[in-house]
Amino acid sequence: MARLFDLHAPLPKSKGALTSCAASLTPEARPGDYAQAVMDLGATICTPKLPRCGLCPWHDICAARKAGTAAELPKKLPKLKKPTRFGTAYVARRNDGAVLLEKRPERGLLGGMLGWPGSEWRETLPEAIPPISADWVEAPGEVRHTFTHFHLRLRVMVAKVDGLQTNQKFTAAEDFCPADLPTVMRKIWSTAAAET
Ligand code: SF4
Repeated sequence: MARLFDLHAPLPKSKGALTSCAASLTPEARPGDYAQAVMDLGATICTPKLPRCGLCPWHDICAARKAGTAAELPKKLPKLKKPTRFGTAYVARRNDGAVLLEKRPERGLLGGMLGWPGSEWRETLPEAIPPISADWVEAPGEVRHTFTHFHLRLRVMVAKVDGLQTNQKFTAAEDFCPADLPTVMRKIWSTAAAET
């Protein structure tokens, strides 16, 4: 559509305009066949890198071909480099195998999901306060995870605790299933396991 209408606004901002252009061409009769034909055209003739205008059934009406701009369309905004954030996660395990998990705040990333206590995730490693007093040991390696808008690198602190020393609510071993955790929290658990 960007080429057919010679639209130079970059994606993804131009998506709405491109959708309108596509809708304006969709026939009432056999719209499914039309959509399939357009997809086939995009996959075989008007490909992203190499438009083959000489073979194209839209050759005579295509605005970009007439303007000589087909090769430079569709335009895209340059990808922004993702920032990296840092943080600390704490994995406390009781002698009977129970673990200290917390429910994350409803709002925000991984909202309402179970996770390990820890610091905020910032662009420089923020100060971290352990959830309980214990002999915390840093696990070897770090956890790396990529979210849509940033990379995350976490150091993982691990402690074995005596069940009597804290009144924090632990999750019993039989109720803890790592598969129930979001991916980044599972990675933390795997890294912690190397130390415990
Ligand atoms: S004429 Fe060229 S640029 Fe235009 S739709 Fe066909 S292949 Fe694409």
